[in-house]
Amino acid sequence: MKKIVLASNNKHKIKEFKEILEMDILTLNDIEFFEEIEETGSTFLENALIKARTISSYLKEKGLDYDVISDDSGLCCYALNGNPGIYSARYSGGHGNDKTNREKLINDLEDKDKTAYFNCTIVLYHIDGTYDFKEGKTYGKIIDEEIGDTSFGYDCIFLSDDLGKTFGEASSEEKNQVSHRYRALSKIKELL
Ligand code: IMP
Repeated sequence: MKKIVLASNNKHKIKEFKEILEMDILTLNDIEFFEEIEETGSTFLENALIKARTISSYLKEKGLDYDVISDDSGLCCYALNGNPGIYSARYSGGHGNDKTNREKLINDLEDKDKTAYFNCTIVLYHIDGTYDFKEGKTYGKIIDEEIGDTSFGYDCIFLSDDLGKTFGEASSEEKNQVSHRYRALSKIKELL
């Protein structure tokens, strides 16, 4: 089987991808890619493609015939017209401040419908420039207190419809059975 590079250094994502795919995958550290990739697209798919194309060109330059898997994911709230959506990681400004992102979201949803879903779009990109992509969603609502592990994104304020508890309270096995990433990735797994 061809080697696969995951276009991410996010340790939570790497863990989830490895657990769900049940195979070893290379990360950006493994291929010594240390640059920041700017997500300038206006949809999840555009952003996933930007990451995949950047890494695939880098591999091609190094003469490595590997496939690339990239994803773009985020939390979409109906009452906020789909926001934070592609801006989930930088909702409160600085990239990746999960705590302030959650606080802003709770604030923005005050007195509004709290229904939300996570979306994940995953691209499987080949060295010849062809690609497949799949999407997965998981539904729930945003609560205004943090319950469970606060270490990843919006997990501790996302009350999952499927699990009846927040993603922060769920074990990784529980989350992996219903998550947006699992749903998209299982469809990609069928292509590998
Ligand atoms: P990405 O790395 O550009 O896909 O950014 C995704 C952002 O969406 C993350 O930084 C989190 O804020 C949020 N997010 C995506 N998936 C999850 C999840 O499974 N749990 C919690 N937050 C998530």
